[in-house]
Amino acid sequence: MSDLYPEMDALKSSDPDVYAIIRDEEDRQARTIRLIASENYTSRAIMEATGSVLTNKYSEGYPGRRYYEGQEHMDRVENLARDRGKELFGAEHVNVQPYSGSPANLEAYYALCEVGDPILGMGLPFGGHLTHGWKVNFSGRFYDAHHYGVDPDTHLIDFAEVRKIAREVKPKVIFCGGSAYPREIDFDKFGEIAEEVGAHLVADIAHIAGLIAGGQHPSPIEAADVVSSTTHKTLRGPRGGLLMCKKKFAKDIDRAVFPALQGGPHMNTIAGVAIAFKEAMRPEFKTYAADIIENARAMADAFVEKGYTLVSGGTDNHLLLVDVTARGSTGKIASTAMAQAGIVCNANSIPFDPRSPFDPSGIRIGTAAVTTRGMKPAQMRQIVAWTDDAINHADDPARLAAIRAEVDAMCGEFPVP
Ligand SMILES: *Cc1c(COP(=O)(O)O)cnc(C)c1O
Repeated sequence: MSDLYPEMDALKSSDPDVYAIIRDEEDRQARTIRLIASENYTSRAIMEATGSVLTNKYSEGYPGRRYYEGQEHMDRVENLARDRGKELFGAEHVNVQPYSGSPANLEAYYALCEVGDPILGMGLPFGGHLTHGWKVNFSGRFYDAHHYGVDPDTHLIDFAEVRKIAREVKPKVIFCGGSAYPREIDFDKFGEIAEEVGAHLVADIAHIAGLIAGGQHPSPIEAADVVSSTTHKTLRGPRGGLLMCKKKFAKDIDRAVFPALQGGPHMNTIAGVAIAFKEAMRPEFKTYAADIIENARAMADAFVEKGYTLVSGGTDNHLLLVDVTARGSTGKIASTAMAQAGIVCNANSIPFDPRSPFDPSGIRIGTAAVTTRGMKPAQMRQIVAWTDDAINHADDPARLAAIRAEVDAMCGEFPVP
């Protein structure tokens, strides 16, 4: 068993049940190959900050304008996080208080439009996010939500369709960015359309924030009025959210976060976000972001060689969507067999998927976490070979167990940071 955090002595004696669960999960994370595109491993420094005394402090308000006393150190850490965020992304204003990506999006709507207003986002089945107006989400219930998709042949965002719908419905807010879109996003084109129809543009960079910070994907900072993000995906920070905007929206964004939709900020997380920003400013992070993409391309090529079909034919970023029906499987069968073999991803719908979301045609794969562990294209090809083997022997527990043992051995060579 790996022993990353030996300092958990107090927990071990006071609550052996929770201690055991954490140790088991630590072990699982170390001994499986993590291909879930939204997951990563934070640095140990960030884990220390999020587990620190900062979790004990209430800091409602903003630096210099708090509702409780004793904020001299909390103001320092929040100002540090905001200043580093501005520097890293070149943003005019940064709010580091959103609890996560979904609350950040809720806050963006609150700041930019009224309940019932028309909004426009990428449909969930095409790679959008629930919070971009999907019907089961608050955004689909409280706003008049419309959706754009991708071209049926190229699987690229269909800008003619975006423009057409935008002209028809005159959205107050247009969302761009997604959770399962493997290609570069043209923020400038979205900006032109938003300007033409008088909409505010929100760029949700939850998945690609680390690629943008590392200079491997164009930045939306100029084109978008508001940029929302998570901090824990490719950006490799603690679990949290982030809003950036032009100066003229700063007041509305800050008020939307507090007091409109949140109470006290999680200062332990904000300290972790400050550390993540500093890590992302280092030259090594540029290399990391480039390696993520190189690894994704190596995987894409290996899947195509083995006869799989990729949504959009490949990838420009950290993720790929693999159509496994081309090899006689389904998303659920493939992801379940892979998990038994120690390779963890998720089943995912593909554009125009004829199958149900519960057992769709595809799997979504991301390379951010394996790249953090130092794996390279050679390991990516090995992972695809194991994946293909697992998919072809989904009903053979002995074969899956044999792959599991090989996965375990390779994981031992690439320790979790
Ligand atoms: C992950 C994600 C979110 C939501 O983040 P949570 O932290 O899970 O709430 C929002 N938007 C996009 C595009 C995402 O991928």
